[in-house]
Amino acid sequence: MKINYLITDRSGGVSTPPYESLNIAYHVGDDPEAVRRNREIVAQKIGLQAIQYANQVHGKEVLVIESLIDPAPACDGFVTDKPGIGLAIMSADCYGVLFYDPKGIIGAVHAGRAGATLGIVTEAIKKMRSLGAQTISAVISPGIHRCCYEVSQELAKTYPPKYIQGRHLDIKALLYDQLRAENVESIIDYAVCTACDRRYYSYRRDGVTGRFASIIWMEE
Ligand SMILES: [Zn+2]
Repeated sequence: MKINYLITDRSGGVSTPPYESLNIAYHVGDDPEAVRRNREIVAQKIGLQAIQYANQVHGKEVLVIESLIDPAPACDGFVTDKPGIGLAIMSADCYGVLFYDPKGIIGAVHAGRAGATLGIVTEAIKKMRSLGAQTISAVISPGIHRCCYEVSQELAKTYPPKYIQGRHLDIKALLYDQLRAENVESIIDYAVCTACDRRYYSYRRDGVTGRFASIIWMEE
């Protein structure tokens, strides 16, 4: 079973400012025709037409996918044991976390502050295990690091001190703790802060902007 993944950045698409250029999200105010073409560019790049997107709602629901669901369902993650379907997460500061068991089970979740706090990583791993996954590895996309993620004093107080420095919250530390608690030892971490690195979209830095994609799939 050949498992692949792709994390896009801003380059290579057709959207104009402030969405330049490979914005894959319809909900951010970009020209829908440009988004359609961008999604097609991504589909051609990975050689796969069947890509499942979500109507992401900052929750923790993870759906088991057996075939493409259209329109995109309201959820923040997918798992599947079916080859030929790409599982796609859109983000601009939130993390896309991808999962795979080499024997043929994959997953993808949208993990921002809300999803990470709700435990969406744990949720995805449970769903993968329900499909028979045993040895799970993870890939963490670029996302906003503690350096650029200041929250209100009220919000900061709701987190254990180990996740907070001043008023800066470390979302990725939440993700790592969930991965380790579920014995995920192999973790590929892009280690890029989206607000620091202008190759990526950042909502915190730019406000009105596009979304990049984190996609995982199994070849048929
Ligand atoms: Zn930063």
